[in-house]
Amino acid sequence: MNVAGSVVWVSGPVVRATLDEPLQMMEMVHVGPERIVGEVIELAGGIATIQVYEDTAGLSPGAPVEGTGMPLYVELGPGLLGSIFDGIQRPLETLRARGGDFVGRGIEARPLDGERRWPFEPRAAAGDRVGAGSCLGVVLEGASFEHRILTPPRISGRIEEIAPAGSYAIDEVVARVSTAEGRTLPLTLTQRWPVRRPRPVESRLPASVPLVTGQRIIDALFPLAKGGVAAIPGGFGTGKTVTEQNLVKWADADVIVFVGCGERGNEMTGVLVDLPRLEDPRSGLPLLHRTVLVANTSNMPVAAREASIYTGITIAEYYRDMGLDVALMADSTSRWAEALREISGRLEELPAEEGFPAYLATRLAEFYERAGRVRTLEGRIGSVSAIGAVSPPGGDFSEPVTLHTKRFVRCFWELDKQLASARVFPAINTEESFSDYGAEVEGWWREQGHADWYANAAEARRLLQASRRVEQLAQLVGEGALPDDERVVLAATRLLREAYLQQDAFDPVDRYSTPAKTAGLLRVILHWIQRLREAVIEHRIPIERALALPVRREILQMRFDLKGDGVEELGALRRAIDAAFAGLLREEGAEAGGGGPRP
Ligand code: ADP
Repeated sequence: MNVAGSVVWVSGPVVRATLDEPLQMMEMVHVGPERIVGEVIELAGGIATIQVYEDTAGLSPGAPVEGTGMPLYVELGPGLLGSIFDGIQRPLETLRARGGDFVGRGIEARPLDGERRWPFEPRAAAGDRVGAGSCLGVVLEGASFEHRILTPPRISGRIEEIAPAGSYAIDEVVARVSTAEGRTLPLTLTQRWPVRRPRPVESRLPASVPLVTGQRIIDALFPLAKGGVAAIPGGFGTGKTVTEQNLVKWADADVIVFVGCGERGNEMTGVLVDLPRLEDPRSGLPLLHRTVLVANTSNMPVAAREASIYTGITIAEYYRDMGLDVALMADSTSRWAEALREISGRLEELPAEEGFPAYLATRLAEFYERAGRVRTLEGRIGSVSAIGAVSPPGGDFSEPVTLHTKRFVRCFWELDKQLASARVFPAINTEESFSDYGAEVEGWWREQGHADWYANAAEARRLLQASRRVEQLAQLVGEGALPDDERVVLAATRLLREAYLQQDAFDPVDRYSTPAKTAGLLRVILHWIQRLREAVIEHRIPIERALALPVRREILQMRFDLKGDGVEELGALRRAIDAAFAGLLREEGAEAGGGGPRP
């Protein structure tokens, strides 16, 4: 035990201590007889300010403060998947088992199970040179997850010895590496990493591959890229939970890290109870098998909530370094920001907007900057996509957390109360939402054989935009009084919304749209719109007649009927559209021939 000082002041999650021995900035410490965990956040004039991750009730002046010589870190290795941790990576199950439902103070629980044995297979041999992030071997975790055991960043040298295939506990030495400085380092199946420091990569790559979500409105109009950053602002009841669950279930990520920062107990029970129960549509197994959950329930101190997003993103980076695509979801960053505000208040810092500290924007930026698509130290490609939910109080999107978030993310899916109350789902507001990734991921769609994806999405957006003005007009003068071209715009966007942008999360077919279905269905809808326009504008056919063609109903039904890519069905539908309009032209032509052209 290394007593560095003693407590002189306690205010909620913030403690000050006079120091006899030096501590480092950001050093992890233990405070008081119960050895509660804290982190040094300020050092001035022999006084350390410490943010503690547990309840400080009962802590009094004179209590000892011990240094650990290390910054707050996470433990990384086999066993992370399927775990549920608190904000400083203590396993909730173990804590509960030991301390009842409330997390007891000072309970030290190791994040990973030290007893459990894992099947290790070496992928390197004695004598091999290894750099930082080289693969030493793999561990089969669960039924099929290949967990790559990499040399920790900053370690390189020559393998002196490597363990043969077999089963090992996480602390057993599986390799010895001799470094250029002549030291021999024992390596195990785990490594530690300080949560506030991004893990190093070889280089950052362009975000040119979409994170396919299976949600048409996202994949077509507001796409997210692998390694991209997105925010979902939404008030209560706008479908945030359903959207998040859709994303964790369907996004084409290998690993999901879900960081839950709840305020009210019930917000978190949803995450803790529902998420682990979700089935992974890829494997039929529980989704938890490829998920790491970091959760802060309301009975946990605010500082742990502040730490939780760093814990989460560090775990995400660890899997990225194995060459995997990871999606990190933080729900909600508003609750996280409130933790920052509370701690800042205790520190008596000068508040900026709405009491949030002036560094709110920097902290948000730092978090989102850790996302990215990268070449790993090992030379593989991996990504961390970060999606932050924002739940502004009262659904007011002009508050600081939403506004700052909007500056840093490149993809913004704004959930709309009015759409949700009209039961239009996903309730993504097409006017306020945006994505910058369209041009970057276009090449990917092209490679998949959808060279028209970008132009079609742009056309859909253009129509939606044009319809706004027309809808207002229609409300004033009545739809029937509008000129034909404007009525075409209205009919077009109506179909686009109902047949395409709406998607029912509870329909067994509609809930997921393959990229081919997403691109193909849009193509067919735009084809119908094109035929409609020709019929009504060029051939002067009454719009009611064109809209009455039964083929329109077939299009509306498609999202529920097309089980996979639906290439053939969509081809047939396109021909049916052509035939229907050709028939209409013939009929109308005959009539027009009898009565002369319409004026
Ligand atoms: P929030 O988390 O924002 O309070 P929820 O995600 O619980 O809201 O959504 C509220 C309700 O809206 C859900 O119970 C569901 O009935 C409906 N809903 C939301 N999204 C969809 C969707 N994509 N498809 C069908 N229904 C949805």
